[in-house]
Amino acid sequence: MAPGVRFLHSAARFTCLRCMYCCFFSREEEAPVVFSWEARRLEELLEEHGVPIENVELKPLEVYRDDKDRCVVLLYRWVIRGFCPFYDVASRGCRIHPEKPSACRMYPLLLEVPSGRLSVSGACKWIEENMWVTKRGDLLGKIFPSEIEIAKKVFADYVAAVQLLREEGFRKVNGIEGCREILDFEEFVASAGDSRGEEKEGG
Ligand code: SF4
Ligand code: SF4
Repeated sequence: MAPGVRFLHSAARFTCLRCMYCCFFSREEEAPVVFSWEARRLEELLEEHGVPIENVELKPLEVYRDDKDRCVVLLYRWVIRGFCPFYDVASRGCRIHPEKPSACRMYPLLLEVPSGRLSVSGACKWIEENMWVTKRGDLLGKIFPSEIEIAKKVFADYVAAVQLLREEGFRKVNGIEGCREILDFEEFVASAGDSRGEEKEGG
């Protein structure tokens, strides 16, 4: 193989520079978006790592409501100000790496919902040094092989969740105002399963 070809191959694969840029947040809109079940796991992890729960802000971002004013939260914005509480400055690493939310695992890919559109984050240092990537949407799968698989799974989970909510008579609303009852998506799924079971038993 010619040396030039080898160079192109190695340069064309995303390699995290461990620069810490993506674990520091100065604007709320940059903060990770997480599924409701990821939000609950984050709360547990934060508690395990001794982060006071009152310092944690998980804002309902995508909410669905039925005609009885029952609400289901599917997505939260994990509002982080400054460094993420899981970021370890000394080792330049994530202290919950195996369990970090999907938004962090797919980064620097950004997934837009409901469209499913993928883009790359201009805030990533590697992207800054490889700006040509932003013009090569056709190569995303080659440049970000593992990140794109995570993004695909997240989108599939999102689409399936929204479809289920629609089938159960829920429609997307702007927030939790006016909700009589608020459930996370996984609580809603469990309660829907329970009530179906009761219906069956009752004949
Ligand atoms: S969870 Fe880990 S990867 Fe995600 S922002 Fe926090 S430190 Fe960074
Ligand atoms: S900004 Fe990009 S290169 Fe830097 S740590 Fe985050 S993912 Fe890695």
